[in-house]
Amino acid sequence: MTSLKPLLMIPGPIEVSPAVREAFAAPPPGHLEPRLVEAFGASLERMRRVWKSSAAAQPFVVPGSGTTAMEMTVANLIEPGDAAIVVNTGYFSDRMVEMLRRAGAEVVDLGVVPGDVPTVSRAEGAFADLERAGRRAKALFATHVDTSTAARVDPRPLAAAARAHGCLSVFDGVCATGAEPFEMEAWGADVYLTASQKAIGAPPGLALLVASEAALAARDRRAQAPPLAWDFHSWKPVMEAYEARKPAYFATPPTNLVMALAVSLREILEEGVEARWAAHARAARAMSAAWEVLGLSHVPTRVEQRATTLSALRYPARVDASLVGRIAERGVVVAGGLHPRIRAEYFRVGHMGYAIGRTDLLMRTIEAVAFGLAASGVAVDGSRAVRAFLETLQAESVRGA
Ligand code: PMP
Repeated sequence: MTSLKPLLMIPGPIEVSPAVREAFAAPPPGHLEPRLVEAFGASLERMRRVWKSSAAAQPFVVPGSGTTAMEMTVANLIEPGDAAIVVNTGYFSDRMVEMLRRAGAEVVDLGVVPGDVPTVSRAEGAFADLERAGRRAKALFATHVDTSTAARVDPRPLAAAARAHGCLSVFDGVCATGAEPFEMEAWGADVYLTASQKAIGAPPGLALLVASEAALAARDRRAQAPPLAWDFHSWKPVMEAYEARKPAYFATPPTNLVMALAVSLREILEEGVEARWAAHARAARAMSAAWEVLGLSHVPTRVEQRATTLSALRYPARVDASLVGRIAERGVVVAGGLHPRIRAEYFRVGHMGYAIGRTDLLMRTIEAVAFGLAASGVAVDGSRAVRAFLETLQAESVRGA
């Protein structure tokens, strides 16, 4: 049995790099201290590059989590009576629908069976239906990668469709940003939001989002101000000050997390944003080769809609959620199902950020899953799965070189 600390391979929070850990573990800086001001300002500049956003867009780093980033976006963009379209791919899209309804929006909810993705033509149909009724959608919302199914939408045509209909587009990148291709300015997206604890590679506790000029203007035009703690107007002067390397205050930021964020974003940029996307795609294909040898099938219905940040895998016949505990016995923590309609039918393995650069950690994960399956009575060949993983990784590296 291993005495190593359990390896965290859930779809967030994730294992973080030694440098990120070190930055986080330093004594807490004050929010006006020069090293914090520098780390905050650098983080905002680095977000612009990771998000590929325009100079006029505004990055925000706010205490909270991905849910905070979602709520802050809704609070600033949506007014009672607004029409909103949700391209719904699962649990987190459902959360967005609920937030929009509570904000008084009239929601057009485009759902699918778990693992599938609504087509762009369905979104087009929703715009057309609203326009026939004399309405215009205020914003279209989509989850870039829905962590409950590992289904990934293609944000580009959705952002273009929204633009063409005079509508804002918002993408929840909580399980995608920093790993899945996204070009905020080139694609014309208006908000791309995430949290610190997934492919961004820092501990949990920060809500991160970038708002386009049009999204900022939508807040400016509101009749009623949003809650103070989520108001773009409360935070924008603080972000502007930090980016100009000046101290500022609206509410105390989790300063250790900001120190960690500056390092994790620097690591992404040192590797290169595109290189990072490619590395996630490579690692996901190699993990899939192992899953195939182990006889595991994916929840996403089409290969091109499968996320690179996690695998959502159906339990084989006669295996249930006790598999997750058996994998943990081998020192690797994976997650159970989350989508309410198929929760008992599958489990999830995260592969993003620091771990994807560590072949040994990915191999340990495959071995633990194989062990769990064997302990559940399934005949599997763990060594062959690891070999398939390594061969795919090598072939991919040669191809990508
Ligand atoms: N959206 C997606 C796609 C997520 O995966 C998550 C978290 N798993 C959230 C939103 C909510 O983020 P948080 O748990 O950080 O509030």
